[in-house]
Amino acid sequence: MNDSRKPYIAGNWKMNLDRSRALDLIKTIKGRLGDGSDREVAVFSPAVYLADISAVAQGSPLGVGAQNLWYDKEGAFTGELAAHMLREVGADRVLVGHSERRHVFGEKDDWMARKLRAALESDLLPILCVGETLDERKGNRTERVLKRQLETAFLDIRQDEIRRVTVAYEPVWAIGTGEVASPEQVGEAHRFVRRWIANKLGAEAGSAIRILYGGSVNPGNVKTLMAVEDVDGVLVGGASLKPDTFLPIIEFER
Ligand code: PEP
Repeated sequence: MNDSRKPYIAGNWKMNLDRSRALDLIKTIKGRLGDGSDREVAVFSPAVYLADISAVAQGSPLGVGAQNLWYDKEGAFTGELAAHMLREVGADRVLVGHSERRHVFGEKDDWMARKLRAALESDLLPILCVGETLDERKGNRTERVLKRQLETAFLDIRQDEIRRVTVAYEPVWAIGTGEVASPEQVGEAHRFVRRWIANKLGAEAGSAIRILYGGSVNPGNVKTLMAVEDVDGVLVGGASLKPDTFLPIIEFER
């Protein structure tokens, strides 16, 4: 963790909760947040709840995000949502390339640059998710995979946009499995991502970008993960669904 980058705690609710439980959870989180000066907190909600969630979050520093978007502004894309539609119902951020989108729904590397562009143009703060599968790690291909995912996504991101973009390193084998990457594995991957960005967009961009870790984060491991150099926050799935597990993560001691 580096003091010049504000810690970012993000909860990805995936396809969980119903409307009333989502609203209860957001009220509880809002009630416990401070003024947002020492950490940034956001939830990524199912899109159908965004309008209600963002109405509750209004007036607090809590960020509200969508879990996906499509990059065109309109057209024959049944089932998809455009960036401006998400903005209109109160989202201020969006996940791009979550591993479930890539691996369950077959999203392609070369869509990511367009998704990032669409998000930025509609004033949504994107979190680009990258990460290797177990086979790729076992085959020593982690860095090659991260490089490919970064190269294809950062195709036209400019230096002056880097503060609006966040990267989440999420090893696929650690998501929802209870198996958390070791501090060494996390440190290596985050260092690689930061160096890649510094090489592409300059040292200032490399030190400004926030890189989150995601994969079985819980109240018991958050402090260790946040202490790893180059880790600026966490993207939390399962543990973000209940106050008992999400609040201690949000409130981890620095
Ligand atoms: C995620 O949804 O991005 C995630 C990391 O899930 P979990 O914390 O459940 O592993």
